[in-house]
Formats: sequence, structure tokens, C-alpha cells
Amino acid sequence: MKKELINLVDISKAFDGETVLDELNLNIHENEFLTLLGPSGCGKTTTLRILGGFATPDKGRVIFDGKDITNLPPNKRQLNTVFQKYALFPHMNVYDNIAFGLKIKKEPKDIIEQKVQRMLKLVNLEEYAKRNVTELSGGQQQRIAIARALVNEPMVLLLDEPLGALDLKLRKEMQHELKKIQQEVGITFIYVTHDQTEAMTLGTRIVVMKDGIVQQIDTPQNLYNHPANLFVASFIGSPQMNFLDAVCEVNGNQASLKIGEYSISISEEKSKALIDGGYAGKTVVMGIRPEDIYDSDEMLEKFSSSTIESTINISELLGAEVYLYFDIQGTSMTARVAPTTKAKNGSKV
Ligand code: ATP
Repeated sequence: MKKELINLVDISKAFDGETVLDELNLNIHENEFLTLLGPSGCGKTTTLRILGGFATPDKGRVIFDGKDITNLPPNKRQLNTVFQKYALFPHMNVYDNIAFGLKIKKEPKDIIEQKVQRMLKLVNLEEYAKRNVTELSGGQQQRIAIARALVNEPMVLLLDEPLGALDLKLRKEMQHELKKIQQEVGITFIYVTHDQTEAMTLGTRIVVMKDGIVQQIDTPQNLYNHPANLFVASFIGSPQMNFLDAVCEVNGNQASLKIGEYSISISEEKSKALIDGGYAGKTVVMGIRPEDIYDSDEMLEKFSSSTIESTINISELLGAEVYLYFDIQGTSMTARVAPTTKAKNGSKV
């Protein structure tokens, strides 16, 4: 078990009478890459600002390494922040931007030189030291912003949608860079994003938030396989999970789900959960990931007890995959299948 570095304890915050964070509890570990994920306005940035000391909670405490830092100003905390608008000093070159904080602290010149060179190497911009920052691309500027924050050797780096302004290709590249950098420096990264793919790619743990309330804190794998509620189930995964109302029928210790005329057999594990949960005879929501739906004959044989018939309304070829849209009992569904599929508009599957 990794050591806990930060504890947010019963944090509440309201703006103009509107609750933004509601008794939030969060334990953050040493050296972890934690992502805060949720739709716009759910309180991610507010959480980050409270961590960084840029906002004070109305209630609750921020504990850092066992000490209460709730009222400590940002510059006294061992955390540094990288914002989406990286605000580099435009009149300074790359080297001076990174060295700025060290100069303020009056560190010796040779130490500054050493540290800045190390950072330039870390973010892969050794050749750019003398370049003016206004002559750099968005991705390069963001790397300088990260170097500038890391040169102060914080114990935690807070990142608020730092890749939001970059195009998709550069974003992907920078995600890999960031992961590498975090592993290299070995400190805690806390990263805010509303993009679930980004949160899953980067985070060793993800905090899913909605309306100022934590929905689930888990590894990407567990969020995908064992979502705690319908919100998490629908927020994680692309395209979105399909949901069908079904009646839970129990025969001995085997449960099945009845959807109209179809009866779908389910795994032992899920049977047990439904029976133990007292769902026998009740209507439940069945979640099916688009990538778990098959239309090929061999799969039909393998899963003959989980077969439902439908007609494809639309098939969309997206290069490496095909999205199939169809209805089951009046509910719109999506399947994500391989391009080898024979299904096309109007075909029965
Ligand atoms: P986004 O992804 O859009 O940045 P978020 O999850 O980071 O969203 P927050 O920025 O934490 O959300 O904002 C949560 C709510 O608090 C929003 O409704 C926002 O309008 C409100 N809010 C945030 N800061 C302030 C402020 N200084 N004054 C008033 N309201 C604020």
C-alpha cells in the first residue's frame, strides 16, 4: 500500500449559496498519477484550487504529510500548478523562464544552470534554451510550463487541463510525454480533465466526480469493469454503454435477464450479485458495452444463450472499426464491431 501524502477531509465549498463541493473526502498517495474526471462544472478545478491554496474551503481540512495546510498560502505549499493558459514570460527566453523561480530564491548560478539543464533534458528541449518562448509551438510552450513548475522540486504537481488548448495529435503525444515525465521524476501528479479517454490513459487512479460529489475512486480497469453506479457506467467508455431495462428471473442459483421475449443468461458472478442483492423478480438496468456485442456467426454459436435479434438502422465505417446502430424493444443501441462485419443498413443480425 502506498503512503498517503494528502488527505482532503470533509471539504465543502459554495459560491453564492450554490454548493460546489459537498463533503468531499479524498486520499492521495505518494508518487501516484491521479486524475480528477467529471463533466463541466462538477467541481474539479475548485478541488485543485483548494489543494493549491488558491481557494479556501468553507468547511473541512487539507492535510499534507500529516500537517494541516488548509490556510497555508500557495507559495508555502510543496505543490506547484500548471494551468491550461501556461502564462510564460513572453519577453524571456526558454532558459530564463525555467530559471525564474530559482533566481527569485537566490540560488547560486551554477546550481541554477544544473537544474535548468536537467529540466530541459527532461522535457526534451535541450536545443531550445536560447529560443524566445513566443517562437515555440503550443506543445513546446506547455513543456516549458511543466519544466518551470518542476524545477522547484515540488512534492506534488497540480495540472488543470494543461493540454486543453492543443490539437488531438499533439495532445496524444503530450499525454505520453507527461506519463514518462511523471515516472521519471517520481512525484505525485494530480490532473484535472473532463476527457475520459485522457483520464484513463494517464491516471493510475481516477476520481470520478458529479455535482461536487465523488462517485468512484478506482483504477481505470475497475472503473470500466465494475462501475459503482449508472453515472460512472455511462461516463466511462466510448461509445457510451448501452442500457436496457430487464426483469431479473431466478432459477436456483442462476439468474437470467428477461428483455421482452428474450431471456439472457448471465455469468455466475453477476447471478450471485443479483440474487444476494434481492433483485429476483425486479426490474434492473442491464449495461452492455458496445464492444461486447458481436454479430459474427462463430460468436453466435459461442454465446447462443445471449442472442437477441435486431435490424441494423445505420452502419458507420470509421476505418479500423464499424459502429452499428439498432433498436432493442424500442431502445437505441450501439455496437462497435470489426470492419470485417457483414452487417449493413437494413440487415438482420
Ligand atoms: P470545468 O471542466 O468546466 O472547468 P469544473 O469541474 O472544473 O468544470 P469548477 O471550475 O470547479 O468546475 O466549478 C464548479 C462550479 O463552481 C461551477 O458552477 C462554477 O461556475 C462555480 N465557480 C467556480 N469558481 C467560482 C467563483 N470564483 N465564483 C463563483 N462561482 C464559481
